[in-house]
Amino acid sequence: MNDEMSPDDSWALETLAIRAGHRRTHEQEHGEPIFPTSSFVYGSAAEAARKFGGEERGNVYSRFTNPTVHTFERRLAALEGGERCVATSSGMAAILSTVLALLQAGDEIVASRSLFGSTVSLFDKYFGKLGIATRYVELSDLAAWEAAITPRTRLLFAETPSNPLSEVVDIAALAEIAHRHEALLAIDNCFLTPALQKPLALGADLVIHSATKYLDGQGRAVGGAVVGRNKELEEVFGVVRTCGPCLSPFNAWIFTKGLETLSLRMRAHCENAQALAEWLQAHPAVARVHYSGLAEHPQHGLARRQQSGFGAVLGFEVKGGREAAWSVIDATRMLSITGNLGDVKTTITHPATTTHGRLSQPQKEAAGIGEGLIRVAVGLEAIEDIRSDLARGLDALI
Ligand SMILES: *Cc1c(COP(=O)(O)O)cnc(C)c1O
Repeated sequence: MNDEMSPDDSWALETLAIRAGHRRTHEQEHGEPIFPTSSFVYGSAAEAARKFGGEERGNVYSRFTNPTVHTFERRLAALEGGERCVATSSGMAAILSTVLALLQAGDEIVASRSLFGSTVSLFDKYFGKLGIATRYVELSDLAAWEAAITPRTRLLFAETPSNPLSEVVDIAALAEIAHRHEALLAIDNCFLTPALQKPLALGADLVIHSATKYLDGQGRAVGGAVVGRNKELEEVFGVVRTCGPCLSPFNAWIFTKGLETLSLRMRAHCENAQALAEWLQAHPAVARVHYSGLAEHPQHGLARRQQSGFGAVLGFEVKGGREAAWSVIDATRMLSITGNLGDVKTTITHPATTTHGRLSQPQKEAAGIGEGLIRVAVGLEAIEDIRSDLARGLDALI
């Protein structure tokens, strides 16, 4: 093994997740080091001048580049199959930096309706203020995407599968639509990660991550990333470097180590989620389960084709509305009542009064967020324990 652990083209995702990205220093360390430094020194005034002027590559200041952050960026770029990755301080900072980098006043975004709540606020409130308007469409309706595109549309933005109903869009078909209209396609790949879905290989131009979720996988740190081609990522890098939403070396190290077990964890998450979805479907108190791993899911076939797993987030509806849903949540003793996901700990929420609480009644109905809907982000505890924690409240409803 040489000092430059540059990815071998033939390496599988599991190998890249462990080996890609780390450039061993002269200390010959085995593990990836943390460089907690704000700035870097030069050997001479002339070297400082060259590095400041951009004539010579190298570290200057950790808002621009940092070796620990670079290790995470190279490793994630290898996993997503992108030319370049730029890490950010959060998932929201990844979206903010992408749009600031690639769009300007007068441009438009077309986005799927069922997006992460803060993404909608960012688009409507803050990009709206900058003169960048967003139109929302039904995630899976390709004709609606195309109809919403205008000559000003520069970006199509989707989260697939959606939260919490597991709706799916055909990424390859959406990329074709975007490119026919000279727009870029960005996919928020937070729910599946490159272990289960590779949007760039399907034709997307940009992948967005909240590293806070499965890339870390244990709920320890907030961070994000954008992956794609050099051309667009150089612009995103410019925003991060100048505006400052950069990732700290400590958090980058946590995510780098998180990636090493990504594939194993995602497989285990999917196994637990599938077993839970099937058990819920058979429970008499449950009216409906939303999980693309179920044969009954309207896009099960598409999800099978474009994903190598169905993810760990599922929604289910209990009979009896809000009162029944709250009673199931309150009867749990182990599951964490929290909106976070992507953790080894299973979490449970009532979307209608939390994550989607700010939507109006008609908006909730359009998004399929009923009062009886419960979302579970399935963790890695023993499936019997997750089931019995939910059975307590569900059995009491029948
Ligand atoms: C959490 C999340 C985000 C935002 O990420 P932060 O790290 O919390 O800023 C964006 N998209 C999706 C799908 C998320 O779940």
